[in-house]
Amino acid sequence: LKLENKTKGKPQKQICQVVLDHFEKQYTTELGHTWTSVRDVLTYPLCWQYAILLNKFSQSSELENTLGVKGYHPAFQGPLPYLPALLKCYIRRTPGRFPAQKHQAGKLKEYYLLNAASLLPVLALEVKDGEDVLDLCAAPGGKSIAILQCAYPGQFHCNEYDDLRSRWLKQTIESFIPYPLINLITVSKLDGRQIGDLKPELYEKVLVDAPCSNDRSWLFSSDIQQATLRLMQRKELPSLQFQLLRSAIKALRPGGSLVYSTCTLSRAENSDVINLILNSCSNVMPVDISEMARAVSQEFTFLSGMQQHELLVLPEKGRAWGPMYVAKLKKM
Ligand code: SAM
Repeated sequence: LKLENKTKGKPQKQICQVVLDHFEKQYTTELGHTWTSVRDVLTYPLCWQYAILLNKFSQSSELENTLGVKGYHPAFQGPLPYLPALLKCYIRRTPGRFPAQKHQAGKLKEYYLLNAASLLPVLALEVKDGEDVLDLCAAPGGKSIAILQCAYPGQFHCNEYDDLRSRWLKQTIESFIPYPLINLITVSKLDGRQIGDLKPELYEKVLVDAPCSNDRSWLFSSDIQQATLRLMQRKELPSLQFQLLRSAIKALRPGGSLVYSTCTLSRAENSDVINLILNSCSNVMPVDISEMARAVSQEFTFLSGMQQHELLVLPEKGRAWGPMYVAKLKKM
């Protein structure tokens, strides 16, 4: 299935039919009619949007002026505690990508391009100054950077198991965070499933931005064999996600909370994993995030019928953010 591409000179993205067929079956069952409109956005990159997260450590009023001229406006601005004043993220309704900033030795980057829905797990985590924070699956580091825009944690532990991605994470941190602050950050390369035993009851907040099916990028897998293999391995993801969550709970201090997030629509990797944790761990309880969801509902479309401790962002034309599942739990 070839896509029409109006951007000159860019290679065309091609949809991987095996993945699309697989999603078609699963998501028609799980989402009904809603899947049709979500599919139209996911399979049409020309309507994708990109948000711009400003780096408060390298502020530029010139950049904000340029963004204004190009039709961007600040998102998540409001008096609610979920919307930290220091988090500056610009979005616009029209599709297109603002140019990425090149690495320049000795100079901090001014902004990070991301899917605006990626900020919801960070907002739900509500990190306060001085809190000890663990980002369990951190590479390439978009959410770690966003956490540091919102607050100054006490200790900030960013972990990534994959060797190459861990280097990428380090590079992201070095490109966005200035020197005195960077000393508060520990980057490790551990299996997140073991951190609970290695660092028991050490953190007030844990982010579990789990490895998942990543629907948006899977749809454009260029290697059919690899895509088929990944689809087979997909069945194993809920077990990995469950183990990461169990480890995160161990790493939390009593009274601390965690946010679990994925960028897939798959119920097996979202609500089912969280329900299994709630049913099997007597020391955790769900935390209501519906007020936060209401505070940002202007910018996002959520799946209706979710429970109060979870949300699922559905990409829609003009608000092409997501998919993003977010759930919040507290350790008693
Ligand atoms: N939080 C990141 C961000 O915002 O830029 C994205 C994280 S991505 C969804 C999930 C990450 O988990 C991947 O980089 C993957 O390599 C990593 N991962 C996979 N298995 C892991 C494990 N057992 N322990 C820790 N990290 C793992």
